[in-house]
Amino acid sequence: MRDQKLIAVTKYVGDDEILALLDAGVNDFGENRVNVFLEKYLRHQDKHIHWHFIGHLQSKKVKKVINQIDYLHSLDRLSLADEINKHRLESLNCFIEVNISGEENKYGLDFKNVLDFFQKMKEYDKINVIGLMGMATHTSDEVLIRRQFDQLVQLKAQIKEQFNETIALSMGMSNDYLIAIDMGADYLRIGSLLYEED
Ligand SMILES: *Cc1c(COP(=O)(O)O)cnc(C)c1O
Repeated sequence: MRDQKLIAVTKYVGDDEILALLDAGVNDFGENRVNVFLEKYLRHQDKHIHWHFIGHLQSKKVKKVINQIDYLHSLDRLSLADEINKHRLESLNCFIEVNISGEENKYGLDFKNVLDFFQKMKEYDKINVIGLMGMATHTSDEVLIRRQFDQLVQLKAQIKEQFNETIALSMGMSNDYLIAIDMGADYLRIGSLLYEED
């Protein structure tokens, strides 16, 4: 079996849940809002936590958070890369976000632009692209979810072929993580499922 890294998405919950997850051996946490992230970051600075920023990041907010995070899952445009390169002190592990659902209101690069963007990122010394991130449509249609995740699988193969680099896939949420694991996910971003009452 391949190993997947669980990122516990804590955007819906507070400190009690974070402490319980730490107790359970989880050290990777995901947040999607700058201000909420910063509050949690400051309150838990004494703990061994890897913070993943998974939400849309506005360029004007980059300098507030960029040296506090360990991973960025939402790198989706050159202007954001420019801003990160300006403010980040050390190289940052990033995932390029791909709009795999094709929904217009979703962030992420179009499939066809990903390889060029991947290559371009090599000019940015503070950006270390370690993978691709995508969010599938929230649906019970497994065929549709598979078709969307497959775009990431294909891009990973193309990157291997063109650049001889093996990248990671950040895909799979509460609704679709079993499919994501089956299709080769490396990082699962799971929120609501962790906090369901039984
Ligand atoms: C909220 C969120 C998740 C987790 O979603 P759940 O459905 O609660 O598991 C994963 N990724 C991103 C980018 C999110 O915003």
